Amino acid sequence: MSKAKTGKHPDTIIIGAGIIGVSSALQLAERGLSVTVIDRQPPCEGASFGNAGVISPWSCVPQSVPGLWRRIPKWLIDPEGPIFIRKRYAASFLPWALRFLAAGKADKVDGIGDAMMALSRNSPSHYRALLSDRTEVELIQDSVYVFAYKHAEQANLDHFGWKMRRQRDVPLSLISAGALKEREPDISDAYQAAILIHEQARALNPSALGKAVAEKAKAHGVQFIQAETKALKSEADGWLVECQDSDFRADNIVLAAGVWSASLLRPFGYKLPLEAERGYHLLCRNPGVTIHNSLMDVEHMCVASQMQAGIRIAGTAEFAGIEADADNRRAFIFKKALKNLFPAINTEQAEPWMGRRPTFPDSLPCIGPVDGVDGLFAAFGHGHFGLSQAPTTGRIIADCLTGPAPDIDLTPYRTDRFK
Ligand SMILES: Cc1cc2nc3c(=O)[nH]c(=O)nc-3n(C[C@H](O)[C@H](O)[C@H](O)COP(=O)(O)OP(=O)(O)OC[C@H]3O[C@@H](n4cnc5c(N)ncnc54)[C@H](O)[C@@H]3O)c2cc1C
Repeated sequence: MSKAKTGKHPDTIIIGAGIIGVSSALQLAERGLSVTVIDRQPPCEGASFGNAGVISPWSCVPQSVPGLWRRIPKWLIDPEGPIFIRKRYAASFLPWALRFLAAGKADKVDGIGDAMMALSRNSPSHYRALLSDRTEVELIQDSVYVFAYKHAEQANLDHFGWKMRRQRDVPLSLISAGALKEREPDISDAYQAAILIHEQARALNPSALGKAVAEKAKAHGVQFIQAETKALKSEADGWLVECQDSDFRADNIVLAAGVWSASLLRPFGYKLPLEAERGYHLLCRNPGVTIHNSLMDVEHMCVASQMQAGIRIAGTAEFAGIEADADNRRAFIFKKALKNLFPAINTEQAEPWMGRRPTFPDSLPCIGPVDGVDGLFAAFGHGHFGLSQAPTTGRIIADCLTGPAPDIDLTPYRTDRFK
């Protein structure tokens, strides 16, 4: 429940200026609320800076699915595999891993898939509407999501994830090596087939896209303050946000601090299983080849895409806690995958990056009123899908604070679902 408007301070403070925070800020401001966003960094410098740019209206396959556990040991023993758990972190990670596997049971995944889809649906057109009056709208390109396979027999639409998509009418097609080559002329001849997800979009610069949303929010009067939030305190007439050097007040708070959100909620009795699923990217400047779509190398589980600055390849799930230093070797491993995909690519000017996906075991975020804490709203935990799910998350937050009631059932995203 929201707290009453006092008129003494901003209606809402949003903690976090990632893509979720800025999308919420813009949509709240468009509804006439006064909004302040507090972040220790400029907008979209966290996970929202370096993602793969996939804007999918069709995300409906959770990370944990039945039978996944059979593939995990092989990934774990491969030092260049897509999953990596730092030894010192293994014991802390185990409870989350067990919950993750439990979330992948057959009786759970359909409900999760529907809840994911509800947040992702129409995301390309939502972004275009948000940025319709700005030139940065051109950062959103129509795209197909190409899942490229080296072995044609593995491109099978009866496999679990593809079946889940088919059941939800996701527009798919299976194509041969020749048709793949027509779409992506620079791809290696070793790729024998591909499954395409149609009617998607991709961002040519996810950080610039988020910053454009922030700029538009500013034009609507949203104030951005660069400060580190230390604690949130509920008061009789609103909220106190304690920051490093000064305090701020608002009627209501939206917590959109990505993976850091859980620690700010701890004093309210919430011990949330929110993991930093650390992903890496490698950006190759002057690559000498071109990619026309979002391109998933199914074998290496990484996504390559043409960005404004060059070719970016992104992936990896490294579990090492939030604050551990980046291990950039994990980004440079992608050079091999890129050479596999595009034998002619130039990887001489390659820059690594690491970001923390805020991930819950059930692949769903927390969105909406925080149960038992009046005036506090959750907007965090979007894991692998935050770029795609940001516009709808922002709309839900605006609905929660201004009405009408959201047209999406918020039960799957409740913050107290882990209690
Ligand atoms: C390698 C990789 C590839 C990805 N690819 C895709 C993709 O293709 N498509 C897709 O949809 N999603 C993708 N994602 C996921 C997506 O990037 C994230 O889900 C999304 O960026 C999360 O946004 P956020 O705003 O919640 O978090 P963030 O962007 O991390 O923002 C949180 C902000 O909160 C601030 N903050 C935290 N604590 C405090 C505090 N105490 N005081 C002040 N400020 C604070 C941080 O500084 C940060 O700016 C990918 C992620 C990664 C890492």
